[in-house]
Amino acid sequence: MWRFCRNSLPVRNLLRGRGVLVSVGCSLCVGDIEHVNHLFLDCQFAQDCWSEVNLNYNDREEEYAHEWFLNMLSKAPNDVLIRIATVLWDIWFVRNKRVFKNRLMSAAFGIQWSRKQVEEWQIANKKYGSVQVYGEQEIQLITNGDLHRRITSN
Ligand SMILES: [Zn+2]
Repeated sequence: MWRFCRNSLPVRNLLRGRGVLVSVGCSLCVGDIEHVNHLFLDCQFAQDCWSEVNLNYNDREEEYAHEWFLNMLSKAPNDVLIRIATVLWDIWFVRNKRVFKNRLMSAAFGIQWSRKQVEEWQIANKKYGSVQVYGEQEIQLITNGDLHRRITSN
């Protein structure tokens, strides 16, 4: 997700730009050049995934997929963000299965997998409180100097 936000995911278009000898065709549809916007928004596989989770990005003002996502991060409610992140991850997962395992997955299978992910994320979200507590403990460690003491005592 971090690399997506930085627009540095190693899609084929970017790899070719760095001198890696790969075909630039989309891994999923072979219908267009595999750049981030195509893979995550314009590809038929991506469109099937987005419509499945009832998300519409066609009226976006941002030119690039990562800019759109960054803007959504600042304004969309958490449930929408989870759906977006899930689909992004799902598309990347299916794409990599195709590239590295030569496994062709239908959109239906990918979407099914995505739904399972959403359920797992929701379960993880319920546990968020404990993560939060852990974060607060870490901040406390830093602010009262315990972390510094622990590091320098070794
Ligand atoms: Zn495609």
